[in-house]
Amino acid sequence: MTQNIPEIYGSLVFNDRIMRSKLPKDMYKALKKTIENGTHLELDVANSVAVAMKEWAIENGATHYTHWFQPMTNVTAEKHDSFISPTGDGQVIMDFSGKELVKGEPDASSFPSGGLRATFEARGYTAWDPTSPAFIKDGTLYIPTAFCSYSGEALDKKTPLLRSMDTLNKAAVNMLHILGNKGIKHVSTTVGPEQEYFLVPKELYKERKDLVFCGRTLLGAPAPKGQEMEDHYFGTLKPKVAAYMHDLDVELWKLGIPAKTKHNEVAPAQHELAPVFDTTNVAVDHNQLTMEVMKKVADKHDLVCLLHEKPFEGINGSGKHNNWSMITDDGVNLLDPGKTPAENIQFLVFLMAVIKAVDEYADLLRISVASAGNDHRLGANEAPPAVVSIFLGDELTEILKSIENDTYFTSHGAVQMDIGATVLPHFVKDNTDRNRTSPFAFTGNKFEFRMLGSAASVANPNIVLNTAVAEALDQFAKELDGIAPEDMEHAVHELIKRAIKKHKRVIFNGNGYTDEWIEEAEKRGLYNLKSTPDALPMWIAQKNIDLFTKHSIFTSEELHSRYEIWLENYSKTINIESNTMIEMVQKDLLPSVMSYIEEIASTASLKASVVPGITCESETALITKLSGLQDAMTKGLEKLKADTVKARATEDVLENAKLYQAEVLVDMEELRKSADEAETLIPDDLLPYPTYGKLLFYI
Ligand code: ADP
Ligand code: MG
Repeated sequence: MTQNIPEIYGSLVFNDRIMRSKLPKDMYKALKKTIENGTHLELDVANSVAVAMKEWAIENGATHYTHWFQPMTNVTAEKHDSFISPTGDGQVIMDFSGKELVKGEPDASSFPSGGLRATFEARGYTAWDPTSPAFIKDGTLYIPTAFCSYSGEALDKKTPLLRSMDTLNKAAVNMLHILGNKGIKHVSTTVGPEQEYFLVPKELYKERKDLVFCGRTLLGAPAPKGQEMEDHYFGTLKPKVAAYMHDLDVELWKLGIPAKTKHNEVAPAQHELAPVFDTTNVAVDHNQLTMEVMKKVADKHDLVCLLHEKPFEGINGSGKHNNWSMITDDGVNLLDPGKTPAENIQFLVFLMAVIKAVDEYADLLRISVASAGNDHRLGANEAPPAVVSIFLGDELTEILKSIENDTYFTSHGAVQMDIGATVLPHFVKDNTDRNRTSPFAFTGNKFEFRMLGSAASVANPNIVLNTAVAEALDQFAKELDGIAPEDMEHAVHELIKRAIKKHKRVIFNGNGYTDEWIEEAEKRGLYNLKSTPDALPMWIAQKNIDLFTKHSIFTSEELHSRYEIWLENYSKTINIESNTMIEMVQKDLLPSVMSYIEEIASTASLKASVVPGITCESETALITKLSGLQDAMTKGLEKLKADTVKARATEDVLENAKLYQAEVLVDMEELRKSADEAETLIPDDLLPYPTYGKLLFYI
């Protein structure tokens, strides 16, 4: 296959090169200004862009356009309109105006709003986000948009994300100016999300109701082999998987998504894809698109891509690593240790701001990754614990310690202080990246937040991170504002000293998977919010409402509405799982058990008729065993049904979620035990669904 990658890369994207070639110069300039500085877009510019976009889209085979948005679910939404416009003489022209580009009014009243729209206006509107490029997919021009209510409340994930990027930009620029770096005009946050996933054969997937309805298996005895041989991680790609990954790369590249790294992961049938990082907003859109394309390409290959956080019991689930940093408009990564003392000061201030942010808003970071699916991973020794801590590595920890203890004061009489001695060494990656058990690790020039689940949008964690870091920077700015340049070094030293004393409890360089750490973390007063219902109440704690409202990321109403949607989503997810399990056991597995008992019994009576008086010991034993399991399943089923009905009837969202967690999930685990044991006794051809062995090893 010969493909010219540079040529196909971004071929379906209305990117800067296309804009420059298609737009009149003044229009192009005006648009760039809007994109770079967030200034208001005039209607004549919008009209001009719309014409260019339409022309380009039609040249590339598009007939429709859609405002693409991200409601408060984990998937994206779209409604397609064609470009056709009747001319009155039975003909049509292909038409697209600036107004249609800039604003859309999907009748989208069925998306979760947590009661936000009910009071005012049922509809919401979509608004073009010119900072994320439009693209063509399946014959439609996709326009990335934000989704708001008529009274201006955010109904999506993009709106608060853009607000948080803006907030961080202002706080970071202000801090850089205070530190004397006056030329900086803009600071962006950057994100590179590493995405894990499973591939299973499509024909087997279709035979599993749990995978079809829930995205994860609810039943299934372990396969003879799991991940114990450690032979899958970074192993050779099977030809079918390699072909899939190749196609996936090409499809992503066409969409301008810089897919870079691909490899097998720890669990059998598990893989990972990582793109080159981008500004947060674009990275979030791209990650949504990546997940979609992953599923679509899998389908073409007769595979199914599972993005659930825990598709299989007993082997690792899937997560997402959110690599995060801040970059100035002149290209300096603010989390890159500097080459000069001045850069070091800057680096240490920004580093300290992240440490402070993570310590003070660890609860929010934990919540930002909370979901029914991710609850199965966190703290299960395959993903970081639910306790948020920071891994800094020994070197950096030492440097902060020496600042805390003033060990960098030289002893030659005069107070001659130099932050980080001379120049901070460039941290060797190997040095910092070894600890895979930390939820929030410094990896040389960025932080890697590792608690994210594989299925969720990466918007939430970045909203929290950007806002919390902006708040920390604002507080530091108050302490440093007005300090004379010659006193700045000393002032920063003192500030870091105070801050590290206060926040060092969040730093932990050891093994995050051990029980000792969880105990120690509790002693340090760190949050351990184990499950979604445990964590969510903190979302609306006063300190967090204060943070988000102060920075105009969310209003108090928006926070409450999100709280409700979050918990409802949790309960609904478990309710569907419970319904699915009930159906699988009742209608599929129990009949299999009975058929097999019948088969054994007829074997026994046949034997007895041929050899009168024969003992039939093994048949008796097997029937006794199966019959016992059948009874246990029947009992478990009744309890699960009753508890699900009870949970469903509970009105209060938090109570409701707690019942699903404390009763329904526990019943499901209990029922699974007897079901899985029965599975190990029943021949494959009598089983109603394919085994783990087939799902995980038959590609
Ligand atoms: P790992 O050891 O975790 O695989 P990599 O160096 O391969 O680390 O990077 C993982 C991800 O981090 C990639 O998606 C990469 O683009 C991203 N990344 C690198 N630098 C930055 C940065 N400055 N900001 C955000 N993400 C980054
Ligand atoms: Mg990583």
